[in-house]
Amino acid sequence: MTLVSLSGIGKTFPNGVAALEDFSLDLHAGEIVSLVGPSGCGKSTALRIIAGLTAPDRGTIVWDGAPPQIGFVFQDATLLPWANVFDNVRLPLRLAGAPRRASWDAVAEALVTVGLAAFGNATPRELSGGMKMRVSIARALVQRPKLLLMDEPFAALDEIVRFQLNDDLLRIAAETGASVVF
Ligand code: ADP
Repeated sequence: MTLVSLSGIGKTFPNGVAALEDFSLDLHAGEIVSLVGPSGCGKSTALRIIAGLTAPDRGTIVWDGAPPQIGFVFQDATLLPWANVFDNVRLPLRLAGAPRRASWDAVAEALVTVGLAAFGNATPRELSGGMKMRVSIARALVQRPKLLLMDEPFAALDEIVRFQLNDDLLRIAAETGASVVF
């Protein structure tokens, strides 16, 4: 089943930079797709267009039904430094208006998925870079997205942590059934 189909996508920024020309992608449910290419070739722009954060100039995007819940993980963990891990992961639910009590199970489940069940009360400064990234992934998972968009989320981490998180990502995708564009 095709989750989303992009066809002939083009994007030229107001400064004249053509970030994408004729970009097409069929993403199927449960599939993991990596976009590979040199810096500046348009990977982030493609992710932002899929997420609806940037409007394309040309081309079509067709979803299978309504656009699904999407989780977006950025290169930096971008955690709230004054909030503990639990409240950082809860943020999307809070922004959506869910009461704290009703968020408990979803936050706990997301923390288990990324292996941080014991760290709900920790603050970001107590965590390693890899753990912060896991919190960021848990925050993206907390609304149980059908589609996870990841923009070089492990680029700033050392190689051992990166390999571990890549393995985790495959497991998380399998467990949650989410499609991933990486
Ligand atoms: P990648 O993720 O593959 O490194 P990007 O999608 O970030 O590539 O960028 C593609 C090209 O578009 C680059 O040349 C970049 O400088 C340019 N670009 C990205 N965002 C903007 C923007 N908001 N305004 C102008 N140029 C941009």
